[in-house]
Amino acid sequence: MRVLVVALVVQLVLGTVFVALAATGSLPFTHGPRLSAERAPAGPARLKADRFDAAAALRWVRRQVAYGPRPAGSPASRALAARLRAALPHGRYEPVPGGLRNVVGEVRGREPGSYVVVGAHYDTKDAPGFLGANDGAAGTAAVLELARRLKPRQARPTVVFALFDGEESPAGTPDSEFERRGLRGSRAAARRYRGAEAMVLLDFIGQPRVTLPREGYSDRTLWARLRAAARAVGAISAFPDRAGPFIQDDHLPFARAGVPAIDLIDWDFPCFHKPCDDLSGISERSLDQVGESVARLLRTL
Ligand SMILES: [Zn+2]
Repeated sequence: MRVLVVALVVQLVLGTVFVALAATGSLPFTHGPRLSAERAPAGPARLKADRFDAAAALRWVRRQVAYGPRPAGSPASRALAARLRAALPHGRYEPVPGGLRNVVGEVRGREPGSYVVVGAHYDTKDAPGFLGANDGAAGTAAVLELARRLKPRQARPTVVFALFDGEESPAGTPDSEFERRGLRGSRAAARRYRGAEAMVLLDFIGQPRVTLPREGYSDRTLWARLRAAARAVGAISAFPDRAGPFIQDDHLPFARAGVPAIDLIDWDFPCFHKPCDDLSGISERSLDQVGESVARLLRTL
């Protein structure tokens, strides 16, 4: 995924102005809104729902990381894909140009013909020693556990659970070519599933005190429904009511195809594409906040 630098710069400028106003007491608000750099408070330790097994999701993060670096097309990636396929309900491969493959499962809904897509990417950035515990594995683990706990007919639409291959662009690709050379699995899936009513992408969701403002391209109405679901399960502290940066990610091909799409991504992640993106940075509580919220959302769509 790639963040739009322009959007970030605009946000930085606005943030600086805001901080300056706050520091001089010139803000036109009676209550000071939270500064964007602040992390969400921990909130209550226990959530109000238990449809998602965060401990099991954390085990899936560990299992993926145990394969080592998993760049698209590598033997490790292909071995992992076989395991993911076996774990997903009605798991199958779907071809992606360039010899890659998405791993896709589904759980039938009550209403024939309607469906939504829940996705994450299972490949890792092609960089030496890069494990992608948060950037790849955490979202994939949550998608798997959501799929394994959802029973047929619990949701109105059928839920297609899609694990994308080739989200990361090949090593050495300039940032400016990311949308054309990365997002390979999601571009193929968006062609196949362009009739989806909604698309929910899970990306950087594992870091402690996960904080998920609405990513810039994300559909406002669907995001509001996600926040309502998060509030209902007691996880609203992870979803502050503000906009985050615009990020080119696997939801974008769906959004461009006209599918309302949202990206759950905590961009404030110091280990982005660095060797420190390992198991030590994964929080079971964060996985639970996201997993329970999305589990609830799927049952209310
Ligand atoms: Zn990445």
